[in-house]
Amino acid sequence: MSELDTTVESPDDDRVNEVTQSGLMDVDVLWLTAGLSCDGDTVAMTAATQPSIEEVLAGIIPGLPRVRFFNPVLAYEAGEEYLRTFHEASEGRSRPFILIVEGSIPNEELNTEGFWAAMGTDASTGQPITTCEWIDRLTPHAWGVLAAGTCATFGGIHAMSGNPTGCMGLVDYLGMDWRTRSGLPVVNVPGCPVQPDNLMQVLVYLLKQAAGRAPEIPLDDLFRPKWLFTQSLHEGCDRGGFYEQGDFGSEYGSPKCIVKLGCWGPVVLCNVGKRGWINGIGGCPNVGGICIGCTMPGFPDKFMPFMDEPPGAKMSSSAVLVYGRTVRALRSFTLGSLDREPDWRRRGSTLSTGYQPGGGSSEPPANPAVSRATGPSHEDPEQ
Ligand code: SF4
Ligand code: SF4
Repeated sequence: MSELDTTVESPDDDRVNEVTQSGLMDVDVLWLTAGLSCDGDTVAMTAATQPSIEEVLAGIIPGLPRVRFFNPVLAYEAGEEYLRTFHEASEGRSRPFILIVEGSIPNEELNTEGFWAAMGTDASTGQPITTCEWIDRLTPHAWGVLAAGTCATFGGIHAMSGNPTGCMGLVDYLGMDWRTRSGLPVVNVPGCPVQPDNLMQVLVYLLKQAAGRAPEIPLDDLFRPKWLFTQSLHEGCDRGGFYEQGDFGSEYGSPKCIVKLGCWGPVVLCNVGKRGWINGIGGCPNVGGICIGCTMPGFPDKFMPFMDEPPGAKMSSSAVLVYGRTVRALRSFTLGSLDREPDWRRRGSTLSTGYQPGGGSSEPPANPAVSRATGPSHEDPEQ
């Protein structure tokens, strides 16, 4: 990308200078899509709204450095013109940069000839520059490194049992002890694809940290941002109330809990149930899709076969069923009562609200709505 075409300068240079007194003033974002992937994380990123990539590049978010963005899917440039910044960065001649890696990292050591993945050609040898070579060249110079999506974080679908490439996540490739020059490990944001706002939020956090406006990003022991991957999907799921009542859907399209259709939500760290997908809307269980554990290191092998009830869920859902049916029956009874107005709200010559003329008090009438309930509601607890 040429600088002129890709740089969206902030309209307020004074603000930028102020922002960067204690940190970096300009940061490039170099996005390597040359891992084994479908480019789905790049596509997902374009759907982010909190914030959007356009807002970051337009410089309208306070506290961020000026950002130039290099991603082949979005670039106008191609070939050597596009690669120029990557070459400069790999030689330590560029602005400070955050490297985003998308796709799993193939094991080129397994090759007797050829290569698994590459981007561009080395002018000195005329040979393709493999993805692994780009990682080896770029990571020593990067201010920060972000692995976007489950392929780059943990290996993902390409790294499943029986694959021929021996591919892996970026941390598998670089090692758990690897750190950037700024002392950061690879920041892992899993998801297949990554949840759009999760990715942009983490990128913005790193940019703010680079600008000296945020403390070091809090990560768990697998280098995932803690605030995104601490709770299970189940703990934030819209359908959790159905689960608690042992009310399980048996076919797609059911509004009930879909654990028996194969949802792994109770044991998967993912915030999509709460965050939704685009602009707060959507997200797998919210729209009827079972969770197949795509954010997890064990994905996909440990979650297959998809669409079978998870083995662990059989016991817990059976236990919940006994308790849940009882709770549901009792709640139906109470709901049947609460769903009616109190009896004193009617026409007639008799006042039955419990009012005593002269200010005296009387026992308020027993809640007629409840006491006069005639039994469980019509909901069938035996589903
Ligand atoms: S649909 Fe999945 S995540 Fe939601 S309540 Fe049921 S098991 Fe939990
Ligand atoms: S709900 Fe499950 S399948 Fe959907 S994004 Fe989260 S981990 Fe992946």
